[in-house]
Amino acid sequence: MAMTRRRLLSAAAMTAVAPALGGRAWGAPLPREADIVVIGAGAAGIAAARRIQAANRRVIVVEAASQIGGRCLTDSATFDVPFDRGARWMHNPETNPMARLARNAGLEISAASLGQKIRIGQRNARAGETEEFLAAAVRANRAIDDASRGKADVSCASVLPKNLGDWAGTAEFVLGANATGKDLRDVSVMDKARAQDRNAAIGCRQGLGVLIARLSEQVPLALSTPASHIIWGGRDVAVATPAGKIAARAAIVTVSSNVLAAGNIKFTPEIPKRQLDAAARLSLGSYDRIALQLSGSPLGLARDDVIIEQSNSTRTALLSAHIGGSSLCVIDVAGSFGRDLSGEGEQAMVAFAVEWLTKLFGSDVAAAVKKTSATRWNASPFALGAMSVAPPGGQPSRKILTEPIGNVFLAGEATHETLWGTIDGAWESGERAAEAALRKIGALGEPATAPSRVPKQRRRGTQGKFN
Ligand SMILES: Cc1cc2nc3c(=O)[nH]c(=O)nc-3n(C[C@H](O)[C@H](O)[C@H](O)COP(=O)(O)OP(=O)(O)OC[C@H]3O[C@@H](n4cnc5c(N)ncnc54)[C@H](O)[C@@H]3O)c2cc1C
Repeated sequence: MAMTRRRLLSAAAMTAVAPALGGRAWGAPLPREADIVVIGAGAAGIAAARRIQAANRRVIVVEAASQIGGRCLTDSATFDVPFDRGARWMHNPETNPMARLARNAGLEISAASLGQKIRIGQRNARAGETEEFLAAAVRANRAIDDASRGKADVSCASVLPKNLGDWAGTAEFVLGANATGKDLRDVSVMDKARAQDRNAAIGCRQGLGVLIARLSEQVPLALSTPASHIIWGGRDVAVATPAGKIAARAAIVTVSSNVLAAGNIKFTPEIPKRQLDAAARLSLGSYDRIALQLSGSPLGLARDDVIIEQSNSTRTALLSAHIGGSSLCVIDVAGSFGRDLSGEGEQAMVAFAVEWLTKLFGSDVAAAVKKTSATRWNASPFALGAMSVAPPGGQPSRKILTEPIGNVFLAGEATHETLWGTIDGAWESGERAAEAALRKIGALGEPATAPSRVPKQRRRGTQGKFN
């Protein structure tokens, strides 16, 4: 069965956040067979499907949502520049396969701005104060690294130096909620210390959701087609969806750890408790973006300025101002505070953003707000959160998720031991799962001892981006 550029759309309406799909061929019936079925059209699923296609095997991706990208989702319609509702930055520009593919696809890739500032009340931190913060963050990171070499895994918060002074809360926000979606008290020192450097950030001007959609253009996939039941255990596997059942020799499941743990997909026989427990341990943190279109320049900030504040409260945020020189300003909220706030709904999120900006800049921000939009990833049924992070004792769960379950293979950011929580880790995990599945069905030889594409070294300073 050769299927090129064949898309299936059972939902009638496309949303404004799926701009990259125009002009595609829709309406082909769901195939009854494939070599490998991929569940989920996020970064991991698209990477897996492309790898399977490269091996000349038949693949079909089934996606529950009505658009491609999963937690990489670009809204190109609401504001005058693309608004990345999910991931905004890739990392490791020299080795990142997506950056190369993006350029080949004619998309614009560029490094994140270095215009980062800290507010102390209504003024900018002085150079010496910024240095103090950076030193505090480096000391906090070092303490986490040192603790990760101890016998027992503990929380990052429990090992922070006690003398971070006025910068303790800011360091906690930058290293915890803002970096992982969870407060440091909920983050394992081992998971944090194993995370590769995420400072050399690169973005895509058209948006990362657009990028994933573009990279999926030759991939056969069915939108609005949730996998409801996976029957495995024999030689083959069957994936049931509302549009019919697909028989295959293997399946790759890329849904988030929260979706897997929620039991939204039924497995027969049941998925082993070992993997289910691992998914539950790697629960997703909370990370949301509040977008404000502001008229004029009420904050007095420049294009792509990034602002955090000196704060000893979790009720804080990160601002990306005038994205790409536009009137769009985005306030990121995360961790326990972000979770509570997003639980209150979009109106409360916008109210917080306006109040926070007014506190820091003292101007009448409310009068300048022309249009707003806020994400609520915890309530998004096919994600149920932002990014996985392990609690103390949870780091080994990542490796457990990579163990094959018969002819079912798990992929997705949570399955990556060092690039967890990132689009890069999701992509690499998809390629890895595809290779394992191809090997299982006899489409590849024995594994080559290929070195990891991304260097292991990861000194996490804070000289780079805050977000
Ligand atoms: C607000 C936010 C900001 C972020 N910022 C960054 C960043 O700047 N840089 C970075 O590297 N990472 C960032 N991340 C994390 C990054 O987005 C994720 O790590 C990555 O996109 C995960 O990709 P994935 O393929 O593993 O999972 P997903 O993108 O979740 O893909 C899984 C897919 O499975 C689908 N699915 C679910 N259930 C079913 C079912 N039953 N049947 C079929 N399909 C199903 C989902 O709809 C989804 O499309 C951010 C995340 C959020 C939410």
